[in-house]
Amino acid sequence: MIMHPGKPPYAMQDGEGIIENIIKGDFSYPLGERKTGKVPMGPWRFCWSHLTYKIKEAFYETFWRDGMYHAEKKRPSTGHWLRLFNDYLNLLESGKMSAQDEEALLIFPTRFKRDKSKTYAKCKICGKEYDAETLEQGICRTCLNDGEKYRCANCGCEMIYTNYQKFIKHGKRHEICRDCYEKRNTVYQRRSCKDCGRTFEITYGEKEYFDKKGFALPTRCENCRGKQNFTTPTYTPLTIEAYPPPPKPNSIFDVIKNFFG
Ligand SMILES: [Zn+2]
Ligand SMILES: [Zn+2]
Ligand SMILES: [Zn+2]
Repeated sequence: MIMHPGKPPYAMQDGEGIIENIIKGDFSYPLGERKTGKVPMGPWRFCWSHLTYKIKEAFYETFWRDGMYHAEKKRPSTGHWLRLFNDYLNLLESGKMSAQDEEALLIFPTRFKRDKSKTYAKCKICGKEYDAETLEQGICRTCLNDGEKYRCANCGCEMIYTNYQKFIKHGKRHEICRDCYEKRNTVYQRRSCKDCGRTFEITYGEKEYFDKKGFALPTRCENCRGKQNFTTPTYTPLTIEAYPPPPKPNSIFDVIKNFFG
């Protein structure tokens, strides 16, 4: 509880309760490949990750039911723990831990300890460090889904021009929202043509166009109007690109989100 500020060792996700977990020796923090997947949500997994392997091993072998030190008679002595923590203190004070990963010095690290087998890079937008493989053209997932917030020029609803659309898809920033866009292509009025008598439609988009120009709405169908060389605007389909891959379920964003609510 000292190393994981205030968190009891047998707290876990979806456990039966701390007393049951103690009785069963059900310990949720991992050691190498040995893991239960039940580490409590929040920054605890990062705290654990930044401990030295020797300390993790000692805790794991003590708390886990099949651990080497789990049986009461086999528990490490106070002297043993003291040696482990003195070694840890030396590594911290000498700067060896922080040389490998500066988050080793934080009481609440914000991510897992750097894995030597991975390369890390800083997001071009927020500057936070991530596993380089999870970045898209140097931008993290959070920043890809974020972007410039503005309002629809027509109805005033809030819109977002995501960094994904802007920097990855190079899509343009739409002036109006999808609803307003779709409304433009719906029929505002049906009229019968003054010249040929056929029924023709005027869309909201066309009405908007004529209103803006200060023209009265047409009384002739498009065919008959064509003869007078008069055209109305056409709207190409609007595509809004969403960032497709959902964040991984156990990404640090979820963890941080869960922790801070
Ligand atoms: Zn970012
Ligand atoms: Zn709108
Ligand atoms: Zn006509």
